Amino acid sequence: MKLVLGYLYPSVMSQYGDCGNVMAIVQRCAWRGIDVEVDSLEVGDMVDPDRVDLLLVGGGADSHQRLVYEDLLNVKGDAIRTAVAEGVAAFAVCAGYQLWGHFYKTANGDELPGLGVFDAHTIHRAAQTGTALDTIAAAGSVRAVGNLVVRWGPHLLVGFENHGGRTYLRDGSKPLGTIVQGGGNNSQDGQEGCVVGNAIGTYMHGPAFSKNPVLADHLIKAALSRRYGTVDLAPLDDGSEYVAHNRALQQAAARPRPWRRWLGDGVG
Ligand code: GLN
Repeated sequence: MKLVLGYLYPSVMSQYGDCGNVMAIVQRCAWRGIDVEVDSLEVGDMVDPDRVDLLLVGGGADSHQRLVYEDLLNVKGDAIRTAVAEGVAAFAVCAGYQLWGHFYKTANGDELPGLGVFDAHTIHRAAQTGTALDTIAAAGSVRAVGNLVVRWGPHLLVGFENHGGRTYLRDGSKPLGTIVQGGGNNSQDGQEGCVVGNAIGTYMHGPAFSKNPVLADHLIKAALSRRYGTVDLAPLDDGSEYVAHNRALQQAAARPRPWRRWLGDGVG
């Protein structure tokens, strides 16, 4: 079997280890004898929905989002929407997640139109409050920063978040999970991420896949099943991954109280 991974804007959109998601997919497939071809899809490159099985996009600052949003809309948009509608798997992190929604309003109030794959929109907290980001303290006051813990069915997922944007899912939109620890979508409704078909949007940097092998395998399976029918993945020894996972859980438990709303003292 072979998996074709389309990696969007690797030279612009990759923060807090997001490129590690590509390495994790390649390695977890290699351990199972599955070949992976990675297509780097920069500004100007087309997406071929018949070729790609899995799309990955990472995070970036508002300035990075300004560099790519027009290309995302005008060069890649239709193909990505078609791909997602046809069941291509996808993992869009933070800035990538925001631009796959209807729009992202930046810190200074510019509204960047998005793909509308996720029925959601995002507004930077500074644009909501009118906070001038002229000091470190001011910039920090509007950001959700730290380890994030998300309940995803029977699983706990861990990641790192650092964003000013607040994402609001519209009625009927399905979140990825519920917040156990951290801000997630908007630090208010207790939800994190969004799911459409096999496409997942999330605020989990890290990279997410190295600490959450169950999530990586979920997307590998979805990506391969579209091309090969139902696929069973051989189990792997994820001992190291869960050492990192549990360490991140402990660190999450140490986050300042406002972000420990749903934790109590059980974890860590
Ligand atoms: N620029 C966006 C925000 O601040 C996304 C940040 C990111 O990808 N880490 O919300």
